[in-house]
Amino acid sequence: MSDSFEVYAYCRLCPRNCAVNRFSAAGYCGETGAMRIAWSGLHFGEEPPVSAVDGSGTVFFSGCNLGCVYCQNRQISRPQAPGTVFTVDEAAALFLRLQAAGAENINLVTGTPHLPSVIAALRQAKSDGLSVPVVWNCSGYETIEAVDALNEVIDIYLPDMKTADAANSRRYLRVPDYPETAAAAIDRMCRAKPPVTVPLFNDRLGFEHPLMKQGVIIRHLALPGETADSLKVMHIYETRWRPLGALFSLITDYLPSSDLTAPLDRRLTASEADSLRRIFSEREWDDCFFQEPETDADDWRPDFTRKEPFPAGFSRRIL
Ligand code: SF4
Repeated sequence: MSDSFEVYAYCRLCPRNCAVNRFSAAGYCGETGAMRIAWSGLHFGEEPPVSAVDGSGTVFFSGCNLGCVYCQNRQISRPQAPGTVFTVDEAAALFLRLQAAGAENINLVTGTPHLPSVIAALRQAKSDGLSVPVVWNCSGYETIEAVDALNEVIDIYLPDMKTADAANSRRYLRVPDYPETAAAAIDRMCRAKPPVTVPLFNDRLGFEHPLMKQGVIIRHLALPGETADSLKVMHIYETRWRPLGALFSLITDYLPSSDLTAPLDRRLTASEADSLRRIFSEREWDDCFFQEPETDADDWRPDFTRKEPFPAGFSRRIL
């Protein structure tokens, strides 16, 4: 039962299946049974139907059950990452504060290691007046049981589909089974949450978008030297999840960390980005999202040592 606190005693909340007692130790995710939050506030840089006009009420949880070697949020995802312990009551109150600050939704980032606590906090917040949609923003490495438990309290799924290649799964994510495990979880999400949108709004740049109330957006961060893998992911989306109404978000602004080796030690070349842009355009997925490479190398990467981790104007902290 993924929504019961008893699972912390023999944790198999995610496909890592650590089977550790998290009341006395941490698992692969680096987290004990204490729910920890690294940052919370309004975030304006998600896909437009999620951030919309007033921003997404985003809660970054500490730790991560996947641990990609190229993680762009490594300051808060690694074991011993910073974070503040929240009780269920305190987390429910935080969700309500975000709603009161104008959040279009509550956007829970990498909450998988804390799943029973998060579900309990959402149940309480909803009974106390939380009415905006709730977004589960995750790596995609989820069990079917976790998705089934989340369906009660989640409206929008924002999973990654990081790779469709078993060798890349082992090399970059340190798990042998990411492609089939994430695909099965995303199948479940798509079937549980068909798209529901409300009429168009104009974003901060003046473009029109539907505001998402329910649905699935599948993200894929294209990696340098791995265009073939990205094309496999796009093919799976087109044949398996687009017919179910899910949207796709292709991100090409990968930035390497200094400790990485080839091919992850560089950004995408112009040729790689152009190739992906052309293939994406040919699909005519006009309701989907293509995030262009940035020209300023370090401009967008979050720095969680700062009060506002994101570039100017992209976030507003709320505790
Ligand atoms: S949530 Fe953490 S401890 Fe539990 S199975 Fe996953 S990685 Fe292991």
